[in-house]
Amino acid sequence: MSNSKTLADWQALAHSIRIPGQAIIDGKACDALSGKRFTPINPANGQPLGDVAECDAADVDVAVAAARRAFADRRWAGMAPGQRKRIMQRWAALIDEHTDELALLETLNMGKPISDSLSVDVPATSRCIAWYGEAIDKIYDEIAPTASNALATITREPVGVVAVVVPWNFPMIMAAWKLGPALAAGNSVVLKPAEQSPLTAIRLAELALEAGIPAGVLNVLPGFGPTAGKALGLHMDVDALAFTGSTDVGKLFMQYAGQSNLKKVGLECGGKSPHIILDDCEDLDAAATAAAWGIFFNQGEMCTAGSRLIVHEKVYDRVLAKIAEVAATLQPGDPLDPATSLGALVEHKHMERVLDYIRIGQEEGATLYLGGQQVRQDTGGAFVQPTVFSDVNNSMRIAQEEIFGPVLAAIRVKDADEALQVANDVCYGLGAAVWTSNINTAHRISRGLRAGVVYVNCYDADDITVPFGGYKQSGIGRDKSLHAFDKYTELKTTWIRLTGC
Ligand code: NAD
Repeated sequence: MSNSKTLADWQALAHSIRIPGQAIIDGKACDALSGKRFTPINPANGQPLGDVAECDAADVDVAVAAARRAFADRRWAGMAPGQRKRIMQRWAALIDEHTDELALLETLNMGKPISDSLSVDVPATSRCIAWYGEAIDKIYDEIAPTASNALATITREPVGVVAVVVPWNFPMIMAAWKLGPALAAGNSVVLKPAEQSPLTAIRLAELALEAGIPAGVLNVLPGFGPTAGKALGLHMDVDALAFTGSTDVGKLFMQYAGQSNLKKVGLECGGKSPHIILDDCEDLDAAATAAAWGIFFNQGEMCTAGSRLIVHEKVYDRVLAKIAEVAATLQPGDPLDPATSLGALVEHKHMERVLDYIRIGQEEGATLYLGGQQVRQDTGGAFVQPTVFSDVNNSMRIAQEEIFGPVLAAIRVKDADEALQVANDVCYGLGAAVWTSNINTAHRISRGLRAGVVYVNCYDADDITVPFGGYKQSGIGRDKSLHAFDKYTELKTTWIRLTGC
């Protein structure tokens, strides 16, 4: 299918697209045992998108049992690595073949611009699945350097049944970052997408079955956090749980593990990433443009959003002026319009939370430099202008708490040392950036930044080959790259006594 569609083409497709509305358990599409359903809403117009099975603890039991059977009889883990690789690659190819459908479902369900769904979400998802598929027959185990009377092998084994709980901001990519390594390692998976955005997860599982992933190996349970999510966290037969979402819910998953079977918990949580621009930066326009995109891309609904801009006082005014110039080109529009680069926030409830923070920033004494308003009310959608606060003090709530919307807090500093101190003075540690033309300053600041991903003279540069995750309360463990296998495998030492050697 071509991606040169117009707004009218996408609107027509939106009317006819099938809304995937059932859970996938043990290779079959099914309703929730309770028969309950819930209704995802298109946040760009407030209209219902059809309805979806509302799974809860009873369905979790059935799905985990199916995943356990699939793991126990080794229908997936026991398959030849080359064959598993081919199936994952066929799955990735099917994702590419369904680019328009998946992109449209993602945009309708969570409000992001169709151009982003097409150019970012779908290709990143298929690349992730293909990359981990390719890794399956490339990774070797180890032999320890023992004395000659022993052979000690160190092998990686799948952990077993993995539960995956993900958020709504990149529904497919966040799922793929877990499904890729978990399935490549030979596990069975039960995935619970966010209640706001279940559609593409269901469709991905349908395509996985079509590609040949055996029944029971990938199960998808649409449902709510406090019911289905909690039941997965507390389940006694889930061996590992991989979570992406807020820090508050991440902490709950640690508790669930402690209250149940001490399952391995991997957490990718929130952020309040510092974006430092120093006065020796040689291209201030590029830095300011990156700062604008770093907070406004995906409507600011980014775990790595560069939401704290920390700028040297000598260049502060110029940087803010350029950000305003870029923001003027990023006004919210219809997500189905290929020309739109800022879409709707995921739901009205979240928009109210973002608007609350804008009120809080004003009450705290920050200057509302740009934006701050809900717009496009006539559409029934949840749209907020790109917003910038200046004169922000790092102790303000808008500088410390994750807003998860298009709201930038700009802090003025007098030198690089103060920038580093302010950057680290927060409970999160996910992304961070520094712009400088001095290589020594770049090294010193990037080493000093307590964050899992540091960008130097760029922002949000990314590839599946590098690990992603957080220091401090931004999480535990890493997604992406070969390091992600640590979450989904156990290391086994087998010590063999040898005689006559
Ligand atoms: P959230 O924590 O509210 O929800 C995430 C998932 O947890 C959803 O599937 C939800 O249903 C489930 N959940 C909610 N309450 C639960 C409960 N009581 N028990 C069990 N499960 C529960 O997060 P969100 O609003 O969907 O997403 C936004 C958050 O995700 C932000 O904090 C953002 O920074 C974070 N995020 C982090 C990364 C990363 O890689 N570090 C990536 C994307 C998003």
